Amino acid sequence: MAPAAISPEESGTTTPTTASASTLTQAGIKHMSPTSNGNLPDLAPLDASLMTIELTKSPRPVPDHDSAETKAQKTCTDHMIIARWTVDQGWEAPELKPYGPFSIMPTASVLHYATECFEGLKLYRGYDGNLRLFRVSRNCERMRKSAARIALPDFDPKELEKLIKALCARDGAKWLPKDCPGFLYLRPTMIATDAALGVQRPKEALLYVILTCFPDMSKSLATPAPPALTGQANGTSKHHSSGLKLLASTEDSIRAWPGGFGYAKVGANYGPSLVAQGEARARGFDQVLWLFGPECYVTEAGASNFFVVWRTKDTGRLELVTAPLEERIILEGITRASVLQLAKERLSKAVDGTESVDVVERRFTMDDIVSAYKERRLIECFAAGTAFFIAPVSDIHFRGKDLQLPLEEGETGIYTRIIKQWLVNIMYGNEGHEWGIVVDEEV
Ligand code: PLP
Repeated sequence: MAPAAISPEESGTTTPTTASASTLTQAGIKHMSPTSNGNLPDLAPLDASLMTIELTKSPRPVPDHDSAETKAQKTCTDHMIIARWTVDQGWEAPELKPYGPFSIMPTASVLHYATECFEGLKLYRGYDGNLRLFRVSRNCERMRKSAARIALPDFDPKELEKLIKALCARDGAKWLPKDCPGFLYLRPTMIATDAALGVQRPKEALLYVILTCFPDMSKSLATPAPPALTGQANGTSKHHSSGLKLLASTEDSIRAWPGGFGYAKVGANYGPSLVAQGEARARGFDQVLWLFGPECYVTEAGASNFFVVWRTKDTGRLELVTAPLEERIILEGITRASVLQLAKERLSKAVDGTESVDVVERRFTMDDIVSAYKERRLIECFAAGTAFFIAPVSDIHFRGKDLQLPLEEGETGIYTRIIKQWLVNIMYGNEGHEWGIVVDEEV
């Protein structure tokens, strides 16, 4: 018998950015696969319209934005959403219910095999009093890709989006009061709950969404100057210590590698990074700058994407550069995509007295950064992600070298400031934009 034809998707040659529904289906969603007779099994899809509602009888007080409780990131709002999945039935009706513990067996797959994926996004209370989510559909799409990578079940991302909005609508009014611009943090999560130790694809899963109080990390870079930083001002005129301080990773600490899962937001990417992160913190740095390979390609900063603005040697033009997606070793950040798009649209011509900037996604190394720094071509660096938002980088320690990066305006670089302001305007409703999705709240 001739071997069955294999599609490009099945042979694993697609990139995460081009993954289609069928790719995802073939990549690992068992309940969507044809049965032996070629028919799709009749399993229930995730359906937000079936959501049941049970409101809390013990509403809790809302902590202040700047309180120790908020900083501890332990306080969740009054409610959460859960939805169970089984391989035989598909998705059960989602539930909006009081926030609280749920039980899983000690044999649950997630506790042994890291069968977990998650998302992170913010719910904003805008200056105009509206609640907004930022490009939430992208988080839902990314969660679907992450689930496929870790053999968790498929779902329609639009249904997840509706569930996220339902939780925001329910708890937003109380937990983000109208007269107080700020944000809460959403954590959609999926775990495999099979109570069986066998190493196999999950047969049971739980999707849940929680909404938490979260500190403004873009303001909280209050670590003292790292002892490792000698303070030698080599080539930078306006250095200030308020930016992110990054410790470059070492050869024995690699976040992600080709063929791995660095592109997916799976818990298995984060636990193993905590030793390096703890060491960086103990030495007075804020985050690890993740390098890859003997060439020391620069990939990400902590749980953020990393951007550099420099003047190129060849053309003398300004360039905004960040690591590319093709090798699948970085997360395709939604902030990253937004920075790239806004910069392409708005920095191709000079703004606010600045020069125009070319925007590129390509590999670059620590040597490229060091050369640009020494040759005074390095303009600024920043990290971009939901948690730290757009954070200027003030220091990089790389294998015995301390780089004190320029912060032209003292606290920030000019392009970092401009890009951050554009995003703030969209997130908090100062600028009407299709990325700022208004949530109708229940009052
Ligand atoms: N890189 C990693 C490893 C992350 O965990 C995150 C945060 O989710 C990001 C980058 C930034 O992604 P986003 O902008 O979607 O928050």
